[in-house]
Amino acid sequence: MLTSDQVKKWAKECGADIVGVASMDRFEGAPKQMDPRYIFPDAKAMIVLGFRILRGTLRGIEEGTFYVSYAGMGYAGINHVQQPMALWELCKRIEDEGWEAVPIPNNFPWTNTDSSGQNPEATGKMREAFSRPVSPDKPAPDVFVHMRIAAFAAGLGEIGYSKMFISPQFGPRQRLAAVLTDAPLDPDPLYSGPPLCDRCMACARECSGGAISMEKTVKVTVAGRELEWGEIDYQKCSRYFCGASKAHNPFMTSKEDEEGFNQPVGAAQRYKVGPTYDYGRALEGASGCIRACMVHLEERGKLQNTFHNRFRKRKPWKLE
Ligand code: SF4
Ligand code: SF4
Repeated sequence: MLTSDQVKKWAKECGADIVGVASMDRFEGAPKQMDPRYIFPDAKAMIVLGFRILRGTLRGIEEGTFYVSYAGMGYAGINHVQQPMALWELCKRIEDEGWEAVPIPNNFPWTNTDSSGQNPEATGKMREAFSRPVSPDKPAPDVFVHMRIAAFAAGLGEIGYSKMFISPQFGPRQRLAAVLTDAPLDPDPLYSGPPLCDRCMACARECSGGAISMEKTVKVTVAGRELEWGEIDYQKCSRYFCGASKAHNPFMTSKEDEEGFNQPVGAAQRYKVGPTYDYGRALEGASGCIRACMVHLEERGKLQNTFHNRFRKRKPWKLE
């Protein structure tokens, strides 16, 4: 019989750093457009895999001297290379046992939910006239799987004020993927370890675009627990993540650049500093939601992935 322990062991052998299992009833109440049960109605479990973002990929941006490591290996390469490789292998092993396995990498270009990376006018709502349901009882393709909620439902950690997923191992430093399967796997309990996010607000203070509201929050209930995070301005995040802040983008050297870099991911990713693996260029290195949060959690001794040296020993640079 295929067990959760076996599947989790395989997931790690395939390259995942953390892995948990959610039962499908934990998605009860999800908006229809985001409910993974419509992808595989007979699924009994969702396996959620986390792939660490190496702390070293953020070093060059922290120092302001080397950018492609995070954009390539800390972002796009995980989503476009590492995750598919791991998912192929894991799903093969599950299907060799006679259970269907639906791989879901962190890659949603066809989603009918208007996510920030795909549309300059992103609202987070349904994209009008993009696709239509194949029958009235179904959502329109593609269903958008909220990976952070899936990871919470699989017991891997918390969602922080920044809306980033935070694990006790890596804090905000992982990217998530999932597998839906009809194998009847036992779910992991929801995370009940020491609280991770302490509402320090460093994420909001250090976000180069001011995209995380200090005051307005969003509340949702998942698997019977109320979750709350700061309201995110996705338009701002999409532009500033790509380098819209003059003070945080050393590639912005002219008036023309100011316009070129001040565009959302989907519209601007081929401007000057081009894409890596066809992805947005992640130029500000998640200054608030990853770096500031990671520094805060590491300094408070909250994370299991520890280092001999502190990440931040010098004041973060800022251009005039
Ligand atoms: S920076 Fe602070 S408030 Fe923001 S998510 Fe991390 S721990 Fe929570
Ligand atoms: S990716 Fe950058 S712009 Fe977006 S919320 Fe994080 S720190 Fe702010």
